[in-house]
Amino acid sequence: MSEGTLLEIRGLEVVFDGFRAINGVDLTVGEGELRFLIGPNGAGKTTLIDVITGLTRPAAGTVRFGGTELTGRKEHRIVRLGIGRTFQTSVVFEELTVLENLDLAVSFRRPLVSLFRQRRGVSDTVASVLDTIGLGELADRPAGVLSHGQRQWLEIGMLIAQQPRLLLLDEPVAGMSQDERERTGELLTEIAKDHTVVVVEHDMEFLRRYASQVTVLHEGTVLVEGDVATVQKDPRVQEVYLGR
Ligand code: ADP
Repeated sequence: MSEGTLLEIRGLEVVFDGFRAINGVDLTVGEGELRFLIGPNGAGKTTLIDVITGLTRPAAGTVRFGGTELTGRKEHRIVRLGIGRTFQTSVVFEELTVLENLDLAVSFRRPLVSLFRQRRGVSDTVASVLDTIGLGELADRPAGVLSHGQRQWLEIGMLIAQQPRLLLLDEPVAGMSQDERERTGELLTEIAKDHTVVVVEHDMEFLRRYASQVTVLHEGTVLVEGDVATVQKDPRVQEVYLGR
């Protein structure tokens, strides 16, 4: 694994009942990168994230994270190694406040004994996360009252509160208003200053504005990889992804 590489996937294959959903993927993500993963429906994007996070076992290939082989490890061990992900379905606790959701996320990282200690206000970590996700004014409101966009930001906040080295975000702007998309783009840019982030997204307008490095998946293989302008101009991408 070369210096500066955080995630290195080689020769990955995933087979579901004889169907090859991932068919020989190589992917390298450097420390500190903000990488976008795009591709038409069924390209294998979510499956790839599922493999990295230990939810799906590959039929072949290796996934190395900071030099540690991940394949065969259990999900919770992979979380402990510093990989956090969001899901397309929400995982916030609706009856708990924004603050309590963040506190809970932080507590996943703390040694068990500290959970029993007396609480002394908002921790520095939570305060800084609240600031980053822009939900400071809603800190004491139940998460159930948040808009769709705010809830997504809270989920991202819950991830960064756990201080992962790698964040995997699955379609973070799906279903968001234009204004929420812009705020999410700014949030990702901010987070990427001190995290490595892989974002699954297929909103082209969003990519044009916020992506630099893009990997295009198609039928379980990497079709093209490069900067967003080059990738968009590639005739293979236009054909399979934009349908032109
Ligand atoms: P994407 O996220 O790019 O839309 P997915 O990774 O969800 O694509 O799916 C890739 C392919 O694998 C699709 O054809 C999908 O139907 C198939 N697939 C995904 N998960 C399963 C599963 N658990 N069992 C069978 N087929 C699956």
